[in-house]
Amino acid sequence: MGDKKKEHTILKFFKRFIPSTNGRDSKNHVPQIYARSEHNVSRAQISDNALKVLYRLKKAGFDAYLVGGCVRDLLLGREPKDFDVVTNARPEQVKAAFRNCRLIGRRFRLAHVYFGREIIEVATFRGDESEQDDLLRVHEDGRLLRDNVFGTIEEDVWRRDFTVNALYYNIRDFSIVDYTGGMQDHAEAVLKLIGDPEVRYREDPVRMLRAIRFAAKLGFKISPETEKPIHTLAYLLEAIPAARLFDEVLKLFLSGYGVQTFEMLRHYGLFKILFPATEQSLAKQESEFPRLFVARALKNSDERIARGKSVTPYFLLSAFLWEPLQDRVKEKLQRGESEINAWQQAVNEVLSEQVKVVSIPKRFTQSMRDVWFLQSRFNRRTGTRPYRLLAHPRFRAAYDFLLLRAETGGADQALVDWWTKFQFADEAEQRRMTQPAKKTGKGRRRRRNHFRTDNKKKTEQ
Ligand code: ATP
Ligand code: MG
Repeated sequence: MGDKKKEHTILKFFKRFIPSTNGRDSKNHVPQIYARSEHNVSRAQISDNALKVLYRLKKAGFDAYLVGGCVRDLLLGREPKDFDVVTNARPEQVKAAFRNCRLIGRRFRLAHVYFGREIIEVATFRGDESEQDDLLRVHEDGRLLRDNVFGTIEEDVWRRDFTVNALYYNIRDFSIVDYTGGMQDHAEAVLKLIGDPEVRYREDPVRMLRAIRFAAKLGFKISPETEKPIHTLAYLLEAIPAARLFDEVLKLFLSGYGVQTFEMLRHYGLFKILFPATEQSLAKQESEFPRLFVARALKNSDERIARGKSVTPYFLLSAFLWEPLQDRVKEKLQRGESEINAWQQAVNEVLSEQVKVVSIPKRFTQSMRDVWFLQSRFNRRTGTRPYRLLAHPRFRAAYDFLLLRAETGGADQALVDWWTKFQFADEAEQRRMTQPAKKTGKGRRRRRNHFRTDNKKKTEQ
């Protein structure tokens, strides 16, 4: 305890020499108010449940605003993913105003208001956290440690990341309140961090990933000042817990803009932090193959999302790690390992290294293993084996993966065609297709090894 006190005193002393805010003057700031007639956010675009929450808070005498991504997306005429509300009501007061409400979060308490499957998140304005004594300590989540400090809208605005994410839609008069020039930036399609970019990235390095994610998703440019430090600070992401990076990876690649996101992450030197082994394969000069393969996987999943179809994270992750896996298998075969051992070991190594950076839940790594191991089973097309493979719970994903490999030159198109036909063939046709080849004068047909390893001699039948 004594130590803690001492630490506090020392921190207080040093803080006198540290600017208390991020290079911005949070007080004495006059917001721009955009009246209802001066913007295009209409209530018809806002979820009924979000409106109910806003009106109820207003009726109870509190201020209530929509904030963040929903306002940004509404201004673009897009349907927001979710609606976030901020208010000057304390969490307990929010809870008292709604029957269907639960408080969550230990450090900073938030209210969740439930309407069937829709949850409206209601946060209380956060105060000027930089005035806290624990400024310099690091949160277990990779962000700076902060306590539950409630504040006003004037304070809340400065903790947000980008100016376009710091616009408040006021339910009282349907105006938009803008402290940071976010409306102008939005009109110019520019992402600008609030405050000094380097300070803001150091506070929370995940903001670098968010910059890329929003740039790709919204088609916005990252402003030069916001862009500049990314290259040099990318390494800071290494300190972010793997579980948080997994959440970010899902948002980065499963939002329907995977291809652009991937290209941008590579451009800014961020991809190599998230997927070091993949980056190594990508960086190899000799072939275009890996880049094509990863990009094609992302393109396919972007297209699926655009068509309203579901996408599974494990499919993309299997694609990301496929080429590193090939390299690893090759090495092991060259060292004289048996095919099966080489595969087992390579899969284990590639996965265990990857989950140190981006923690992939077990249920996904298991499916990734299935997709990879099933690839070799496609080569066996006689007897009962094809039927067993067809009945495997991961058949569909493995088949899609095979398609992807064929599209980028990594598997025989004839093999894919066979499986495409087999799946939809009637019983008699399937029986005919799986008959062992007759021994004619020509002998048995040779099959290529579809793992693309150097072990070309191996044939499987
Ligand atoms: P979307 O939900 O479309 O992915 P969003 O902007 O709503 O985008 P959220 O993660 O839902 O993103 O966060 C809501 C808001 O909270 C943001 O708009 C921003 O104002 C603030 N915010 C979220 N994460 C951070 C962060 N790491 N640093 C600063 N502010 C953040
Ligand atoms: Mg959001």
